[in-house]
Amino acid sequence: METKDFPVDGGVSVPLLVSTTIPASFRHGFSTRVGGVSAAPYASLNLGSKWGDSAENVAENRRRLLVASGARAMYAACQVHGTRVVRVAAGDDPDVVKREEADGLCSDGAGLGLSVHVADCVPVLIADPCTSACAALHAGWRGTVAGMATAGVAALVGTFGCRPEDLRVALGPCIGPCCFDVGLAVVGAFEAAWPGARAAGVVVETAGFQPRIDLRQCLRLQFQAAGVLPEHIDASSDCTHCDPAGRFFSFRSSGRLTGQLAGFIVAAGES
Ligand SMILES: [Zn+2]
Repeated sequence: METKDFPVDGGVSVPLLVSTTIPASFRHGFSTRVGGVSAAPYASLNLGSKWGDSAENVAENRRRLLVASGARAMYAACQVHGTRVVRVAAGDDPDVVKREEADGLCSDGAGLGLSVHVADCVPVLIADPCTSACAALHAGWRGTVAGMATAGVAALVGTFGCRPEDLRVALGPCIGPCCFDVGLAVVGAFEAAWPGARAAGVVVETAGFQPRIDLRQCLRLQFQAAGVLPEHIDASSDCTHCDPAGRFFSFRSSGRLTGQLAGFIVAAGES
């Protein structure tokens, strides 16, 4: 992953983390707190609309992301910590899609942008250079346990005829195994869903503390089990909770008074 500045307008630019594993024909990125208009505690590029920030600020921040993305339209669903993936096609109304209860979007409509909103959960982007299809997934611990990665691959294979070995995957900034300590019920959920979770580094033991979960490691294993090649999976090592530069919004750090980051990808091809 590397940070690149994307010019918006009026001399403003938005820095985004981009993956070198996703082909350049797919415009994509993971946002940070930088480049928006919101005031603390949402400063400044808050892209979430339901956490108390003003609607005008969120709308301007989303406009900036849309311009930076180069997409014809940017879609986001109503995330519910499940594994449903909804297909987006040219002509779909973003205001209709945003009412769909889903944690994944997929499309092969050139120029259509798919996004997820996060603040500690994992934003996941998938691109298929062979079919020009792509997907954006939101995976917190519930969605990860429920098989969000598996569902994302299945949606691309079933809808667009993608082959898993062609897919490129990027896992963005999220709460890391350095900070994501959880109760025994959550540990039990991971161990039940993923036999060998401790040996595989999904559940991380810490001396004298609660166990911690490595969400990106669990998603990586799910993608590989679904047929994605290890060398086609790119994972950020950034932790939204303890980033030294404070670049990210974190639900755990801020309670409910937090903004949201976005991960987005734009379907490739002629537009
Ligand atoms: Zn951390």
